[in-house]
Amino acid sequence: MTGPLHPPGDTTRPPSSHAASDAGTAGATGLARLPHGLRGAAPLLALLALAVLVGLAGALGYRYSYDTALARQAERGQVQLRLYTQALESELAHYDYVPGLLSLDERIAALLLRPDDPARAARANDYLAALNIRAGTRVVYVLDAHGKVLATSNWQRPDSYLGEDLSFRPYFRSAMEGQLGRFYGVGTTRSESGYYLSAPLGERYNPSGVAVVKIGLEPLENRWQGADSQMLLTDENGVVILASDPSWKLAALRPLSAEARERLSRSLQYNRAPLPQLPLETVRKLANGNGGSSDELVRLRRGPPMLAQHAALPGTDWQLTLLTNTSQARVAALNTAALAGVLTAFVLLLGAAWNVRRRIVNERLAARAALEAANSELERKVAERTADLSAANQRLQAEVAERIRAETVLRQAQDGLLQAGKLAAVGQMSTGIAHELNQPLAALRTISGNTGKFLERGDYGTVRANLDTIIGLVERMGRITGALKSFARKSGNGKRQARLAEGVDNALFLLQTRVDAVQPELQRDIDPTLAVVCDPNRLEQVLVNLLGNALDAVAGKPGPRIALHAHIAGGMVHLTVRDNGSGLSEEAFARLFEPFFTTKPAGQGLGLGLTLSAGILNESGGSLSATNHPDGGACFTLVLPLAPQDATSKDASHAG
Ligand code: ADP
Repeated sequence: MTGPLHPPGDTTRPPSSHAASDAGTAGATGLARLPHGLRGAAPLLALLALAVLVGLAGALGYRYSYDTALARQAERGQVQLRLYTQALESELAHYDYVPGLLSLDERIAALLLRPDDPARAARANDYLAALNIRAGTRVVYVLDAHGKVLATSNWQRPDSYLGEDLSFRPYFRSAMEGQLGRFYGVGTTRSESGYYLSAPLGERYNPSGVAVVKIGLEPLENRWQGADSQMLLTDENGVVILASDPSWKLAALRPLSAEARERLSRSLQYNRAPLPQLPLETVRKLANGNGGSSDELVRLRRGPPMLAQHAALPGTDWQLTLLTNTSQARVAALNTAALAGVLTAFVLLLGAAWNVRRRIVNERLAARAALEAANSELERKVAERTADLSAANQRLQAEVAERIRAETVLRQAQDGLLQAGKLAAVGQMSTGIAHELNQPLAALRTISGNTGKFLERGDYGTVRANLDTIIGLVERMGRITGALKSFARKSGNGKRQARLAEGVDNALFLLQTRVDAVQPELQRDIDPTLAVVCDPNRLEQVLVNLLGNALDAVAGKPGPRIALHAHIAGGMVHLTVRDNGSGLSEEAFARLFEPFFTTKPAGQGLGLGLTLSAGILNESGGSLSATNHPDGGACFTLVLPLAPQDATSKDASHAG
């Protein structure tokens, strides 16, 4: 044990800072369960609990160890007490024979018969003096039946008892009653304490005198001194007659009653000694294995507790008391208490640390479980969402496929419509074309008939001239059918660009018969090099529609006029086709691009021209719009992207 000792019950002892911090952590375990107001006090409460438990363990350890050590000390004390008792007993027994010896001596008997005889007294005195020296006693003397000293070993001393009346001494009375007197007292003459032994002389129950021997017990006292204990011998009155500490002598171990004090002052047993009360208080009684006198813990004037053990001296009313120091037991108990406290603190802190660790592990496990749960929830949601997404994706794919199919169908329908529109235009043109072809055919018939006649006449010059005319007519017819064939071709020729002026030429050529019939004033303001991004065949179809409508609008009007004007704006080519017809009616304006909307009589119009034209232009990145000109007549504006110049010249050279 190296650290400072603390009383086991001392709960105010400050614990080490380490312990405090650990206890604080342990206290946090139950923190969540505490009401809010108490949370701040939790570490303090834990500390307090720790201190209380440590204090309790220390106190228990102290008590157990103290009692064990006291029991061991008591065992040793019993042995010591037995030894001292035996020593005292044998010491006293050693002188028992002396009074008896006197009753046998004839010198004493002679003196008792003739107490007044000086010679007998002198002989008795000499004998007693010699016996006193030989026996090693303090004084030996003889009293007559009245208690008067007849002879004494100290007859020569000035303070001799000779002639004194000692009848008041209890040992005298005991002996006169036929008993062996045992008595401790303080001498009245020299105030010398001693042990008096008395015996009757002569007849036992009617003695003629009393023999008394006084023994000094100081040698015994001297033997007791120096031991780590106090030895007390108390007489029947509870007065200390022998003590290892001389200052305790003639003090009362237990309170003396007034009656007892009165009796003692009369018998002068202690020769007027004040007999103070020893301030010995009992702390607690101890259980004792001997069954007899119980051991006790006593303390003197608030001094350290001492173990008090008592033993009766056989044959007397005396009691031997052994007082031993309990400081060793206390030190051992304090060591045990400290050890118990430290061990308890260690175990508690270990428990707290284990608890904290268990809590951390539990929290980690819970966190992991929560994480896993969240993870699986997330996975489930992701799977759900993925399933939704793939379902949506499949739906989308199905929709896209449906769209593509619908678009294909639409495109096919559009192509079909375009073709239908073209065929309609061809149908419209067929009358004119038939007229166009009939003319050269009639001319051919006439010229070929004439040519035969000129051949018969041998006019070869005219024949050649006619043949040239025939060739010219056939070429013209071939050009007409070629243009028709080209117009009626189902799809474009793969080109992406067309010269605007050439498209207008071709359209007018196709509409030649109607142009000839209407005879409008044609105004053209188109740069011949201007090219647009569009399939030439389709551009031609659009222009045939626009010009055909314009011809229809101005047919039969006075001073028919059709004006074509092209310009570039913002990278786009704008071509306006304006006529001076009656313009667009309100209904026609609203439903212009509606399929099958026509105001023309059956057989002349299908109502598809503008619809298809707008579709073609939109596809090429352009547009078609219509207004009524403020000066009257309709004005259609065709918009198409301007084609790059280089490519245009190449493509354009091919056209026509
Ligand atoms: P269709 O010529 O077969 O009737 P379109 O789609 O080409 O079909 O024209 C639809 C209608 O638009 C015509 O029936 C006509 O009423 C009106 N329309 C077209 N162009 C003109 C124009 N230049 N002047 C007046 N009305 C026109």
